[in-house]
Amino acid sequence: MNNLIADSESSIRLAIFLGMFLLLAVAEVWFPRRKPAYSKPKRWLSNLTISALNTLVVRISFPIAGVAAAVLAEDRQWGLLNQLPVAPWLNILIFLLLFDLAIYWQHRLFHVVPWLWRFHRMHHTDVDYDLTTGSRFHPFSILISAAIKIALVIVLGASTAAILIAEVVLNVTAMFNHSNLKLPQSMDHKLRKILVTPDMHRIHHSTDNIEHNANFGFNFSWWDRIFGSYIDQPKLAHDTMDIGITGFQDRKSIDIFPLLIQPFKKATP
Ligand SMILES: [Zn+2]
Ligand SMILES: [Zn+2]
Repeated sequence: MNNLIADSESSIRLAIFLGMFLLLAVAEVWFPRRKPAYSKPKRWLSNLTISALNTLVVRISFPIAGVAAAVLAEDRQWGLLNQLPVAPWLNILIFLLLFDLAIYWQHRLFHVVPWLWRFHRMHHTDVDYDLTTGSRFHPFSILISAAIKIALVIVLGASTAAILIAEVVLNVTAMFNHSNLKLPQSMDHKLRKILVTPDMHRIHHSTDNIEHNANFGFNFSWWDRIFGSYIDQPKLAHDTMDIGITGFQDRKSIDIFPLLIQPFKKATP
């Protein structure tokens, strides 16, 4: 079973990614939250090329992916959950919660440590906000995330099913909560009790310093409430608030090569 999951991991993830991508891309056209300010084909080309580049970089740098790390941990009986008589479903549930909590704190760390912020900043300098923003991360920050994820799998003793589900959920929710989707207010309100919605995460992409240092959660919305980083609504309206980072709002925040070297550049006034 473990080997079966390990062998088909890439195909499962790709199929779910493409399915969700198509669904949200159509939904964004039908129910847009904001009018895009910049050329969508140009942004999408850059954001999706970076996403493909990230997949490649992680595959080359970490021959042992999350699922393979879980197989290894289970074979050698490493990690907390492999030492306890935990039912398979509970292994998945505990890992999903702790994985999401770790991502929340990793995200906060990326905002406070200056050199980490320079790499994470590339995610924030997207001048518009849609589902492709969810896969626009600098390759170096993706490598750090991959190393943390593998360490977490081994230390916690996550099962192969647990890490596969956690990664798929993260992929899908990242696309969803970055989408330019206008949800009915009552639906946003109900969903937000458990999940991070597009309106909640968009606040994190505001040019306002206080707002972009809030709403760090990726899947579950409660971490921000528990740790005091939650903002319910932006100061300006969702469809008029400014998105991005001041000083990075020109073409250099769209084209691929300038984006890759952006961590080494200063904001232009
Ligand atoms: Zn951030
Ligand atoms: Zn984001």
